[in-house]
Amino acid sequence: MAANAVPHSPSFTNTFYESLFDVADGENIKSCLQCANCSGVCPFGFLMDFPPGRMIAWMRAGILDEVLGSDSVWMCVSCYACTEVCPKKIPLTPGLMTRAKEEVLLAGNVPTELQSALEFSQRYGNPLGESPRKRADWAADLRPEVPIMRKARRPVDVLWFVGDYPSYHPRVRQTTRALYKILTALGIDYGILGPDENSDGDTQRLAGERGLFEVLAEKNGKAFSCYEFKEIITTDPHAYNALKNEYPKLGIEYPVKHHTEFLAERLDELKPRLKGNGELKVTYHDPCYLGRANKVYDPPRALLEAIPGLELMEMPHNRTTSLCCGGGGGGMWLDGFQWEKAHVRLSEWRVREAVNTGADVLAVACPYEPPRFEDAAKMVSGAGNLVVKDIVELLADAMEE
Ligand code: SF4
Ligand code: SF4
Repeated sequence: MAANAVPHSPSFTNTFYESLFDVADGENIKSCLQCANCSGVCPFGFLMDFPPGRMIAWMRAGILDEVLGSDSVWMCVSCYACTEVCPKKIPLTPGLMTRAKEEVLLAGNVPTELQSALEFSQRYGNPLGESPRKRADWAADLRPEVPIMRKARRPVDVLWFVGDYPSYHPRVRQTTRALYKILTALGIDYGILGPDENSDGDTQRLAGERGLFEVLAEKNGKAFSCYEFKEIITTDPHAYNALKNEYPKLGIEYPVKHHTEFLAERLDELKPRLKGNGELKVTYHDPCYLGRANKVYDPPRALLEAIPGLELMEMPHNRTTSLCCGGGGGGMWLDGFQWEKAHVRLSEWRVREAVNTGADVLAVACPYEPPRFEDAAKMVSGAGNLVVKDIVELLADAMEE
């Protein structure tokens, strides 16, 4: 068989191969050079049975059944590192790896902890298994009140899509409240969906549950259509990715900004309010779904550099080469499975790198990261004094009351 011919094999092999052509540039997969850049840069490539390059090689040879029979695809954290370095621009993360997860999931080869998060998402609209009625509880004691669209019953300038972890996770709620403080100080006319909000579904999609993603997207799309607003903001790069790149494919299309983009556009109003936190050395972690997936690199840095007394120190892996925290693509719900396989946590690699810069603070811009990096800091030698904060927490701390 020619190297780039469609393989002739039974079962789902042909279907899988051909389905890749539905994703943008999927057919480009035929042009793989077998250079192994993708497998080499993959954070867990060293222990995958089939990192992307090898998966393509076997697929060309028509023996994909064995590829999809391996559970090593669950080591993929959808970090876009492979996609970033592929000289042929093959959409490895959104195409090959995500489709492979869909097939493995359909075959029932799914780790229990991931299964639970998917079932919770289906039943409760969030992967944490929390009550939808409690989605706005983080705001219950805040004054002025956080406007909830179904109660406010008025048009707003900005719809704040809060997201799952920012709504429910005790640590991440601190970030949510920090953004509340900033929006209030800037006099932004905003509202939230509260109980009408569902999980954005992007991580479920990247973990192979496309059907569930579409259900969640449709519910959010229906909620959006009930209210008037000019744009959406979110602190979650995964929600941002979904709203910007995936919802429009389902006909749900609204202007969306990550909170760092939104605030960076308002630096002139923000700067006079920043008194600083004293002398602070800060290093910044580019989240995969803000950086590599969506190329937002400068706004977070502009915000940090606006804080008086703050010195920004880059880690060796920054911007396109940033190291994944390990939470994407379902990794957030696969910690036990991945620990059993790897006996290493990607978040610890990142924290070690942050410590080596000599920074006091590891600044982040994704809700997955504060709990992951704070846990990792407990395990990494010399990280005892490293503080993990979202950029909005640093901004809120630096603001005059
Ligand atoms: S980096 Fe791209 S061209 Fe190179 S082996 Fe991987 S998929 Fe093929
Ligand atoms: S997306 Fe990241 S984890 Fe997944 S195969 Fe590519 S480099 Fe590896």
